[in-house]
Amino acid sequence: MAAQDFQDLCTFESFKSFWHSYGYGVDQQGLIEQEFNRIKGLTYLDHAGTTLFPKSQIKAFYDDISRNIYGNPHSHNPCSRLTHDTVETVRYRILQHFNTSPEEYSVIFTSGCTAALKLVADTFPWTAGSSQNPGSQFCFLTDNHTSVVGMRGALALNGISTVPVRPQEVEKRKPSAQTKSEDVSSVSHLFCYPAQSNFSGRKYPLSYVKEIQSGQLYPACQHSGRWFVLLDAACFVSCSPLDLSRCPADFVPISFYKIFGFPTGLGALLVRNEAAELLRKTYFGGGTAAAYLAEENYFIPKPNVISRFEDGTISFLDIISLYHGFETLRKLTGSMLNIQHHTFGLARYTFMMLSCLRHNNGKPVAQIHGDNDFQNMAEQGPIINFSLLDDQGQTVGYSQVDKMASLFNIHFRTGCFCNTGACQHYLSISNQTVKSNLHAGHICGDNIDLVDGCPTGSLRVSFGYMSSFEDSQNFLQFVVNNFVSKPLILDQIRLARFKSPSVMKASVSYDLALIPNDQPRHKSELKTTASAESTTTKSEDTEQNNHSTHTLTNIFIYPVKSCASFQVTEWPLGPQGLLYDRLWMVVNENAVCLNQKREPKLCLICPVICLASNTMKLHAAGLYIKYYTCI
Ligand SMILES: *Cc1c(COP(=O)(O)O)cnc(C)c1O
Repeated sequence: MAAQDFQDLCTFESFKSFWHSYGYGVDQQGLIEQEFNRIKGLTYLDHAGTTLFPKSQIKAFYDDISRNIYGNPHSHNPCSRLTHDTVETVRYRILQHFNTSPEEYSVIFTSGCTAALKLVADTFPWTAGSSQNPGSQFCFLTDNHTSVVGMRGALALNGISTVPVRPQEVEKRKPSAQTKSEDVSSVSHLFCYPAQSNFSGRKYPLSYVKEIQSGQLYPACQHSGRWFVLLDAACFVSCSPLDLSRCPADFVPISFYKIFGFPTGLGALLVRNEAAELLRKTYFGGGTAAAYLAEENYFIPKPNVISRFEDGTISFLDIISLYHGFETLRKLTGSMLNIQHHTFGLARYTFMMLSCLRHNNGKPVAQIHGDNDFQNMAEQGPIINFSLLDDQGQTVGYSQVDKMASLFNIHFRTGCFCNTGACQHYLSISNQTVKSNLHAGHICGDNIDLVDGCPTGSLRVSFGYMSSFEDSQNFLQFVVNNFVSKPLILDQIRLARFKSPSVMKASVSYDLALIPNDQPRHKSELKTTASAESTTTKSEDTEQNNHSTHTLTNIFIYPVKSCASFQVTEWPLGPQGLLYDRLWMVVNENAVCLNQKREPKLCLICPVICLASNTMKLHAAGLYIKYYTCI
């Protein structure tokens, strides 16, 4: 992108036209007013965690279930038939959404993407290795979600070899001229990769599917046998259209809340009918049997593939709500392609702005974790993964950024995003470091963001179809205001009285050294100063107070609110507490009080009060200020 184009993007008006060439032309403000007024005042940027449901989806669902009576689909009364038929309509609608049909694919409902992955791990026709036969291979890209990597858990026990594959190894592969030989071996292998990384938003080529199936992708895939592909589409499908007629992956696990925001706890395994025939199941639950005996080990599954894999009663009301999910999404946005354009446009703009931000010494503010420059929406989803750096190039801990963001009602995700492989790759964390960080007390999902100054995770912002340009602006403004070092312009500092000045009068005070259990205790001798004493003064009332003596070791006063403290050993008291404590505040040209949240450099300003000359001086290391005021 040319510099001029970039400059143009920085202005709102030109951004709007740029964005419109991406966006779906809906009235974004109207959409938020009508459907998402609950997010007003909040900058929600964790759509890869879960997106948000629109109001009318819930309304339509509510109207539906208030009008109709849906029975248990395993019964045979009319209510049950209604449930059965509606669920079948939803299965059809799901297949349609992914541009395929019941002739090619089946929909197996699960509790989510993770349960779908576990189902494949448990039922795939694995062959254990032996001295004659190397057995099945379980290959997976290292940029996979934990729930994919975890499939190996049960496999190792059964003698199946696990082969982690780095994305770079796949990219560097030599095109294989060799065409697939007619394979007589009956060994089945599985290759798993994400259609979109949930860490970086990188999209992996969907063309891998056919290449793997024909044994051409990676040297490991040339192991004799039949290669199946599991395409983890959970992250991808939330903002992109997926066409299974063009990339016929054998297994496609998804979670519906990532598309619609509601319902949660419902996902599906889309499985190619050809592959479904080969799955082997051991457990059988309600609804899966054609016949079985309680007293004999006799079980015959139902002939229908789907009903073999859905143990027990499906989540039928939630499944029915999916119908309204698809309908509402289409009404609000038109199509997944529109959503893709809209969200990609926002992510691209945010990426460009963030990667151009500089501290006043010229060093970059953000380190982007990704291999993509957001030029092509076929290669990148609406996710930006990054770390913030200080002006010395040190990483700012993600928890610090997260806490700060929540003060401004900006919500994104931090940590490793259930994708240790990608996290290690982008943050250069060795296997040894992961183990030693665990010993140092850091576990996945906690707040320990830095160990020995090195980051244990990063920050991720992700967009959804209702995200707006303002969301992006709020986020960027937050970074600029809080994490970009700029010269503090002290000419503009003004002090204003925060409290009315109090005249130092002899007034009631307490001898702090003698107050037991925080209870004020009137003493006969009144003092006009509080004193820090290095030794403990024992109460005279030894019988009652012999365990509750207190020592005052330091006195810190904060003459200017939000600036540094002034430390003294003895100080006069006024009627409102320590004299001159929090008497002033720093205001901007509009007389608005500044605080450290808005201007962290205030903490460098050290006030010094000289009682003898009745003056206050402000010092700030490295900021060249000299400010005197008469008090
Ligand atoms: C979210 C996600 C999962 C896990 O989905 P659950 O809903 O937690 O089961 C798996 N893979 C990817 C790529 C994801 O984004």
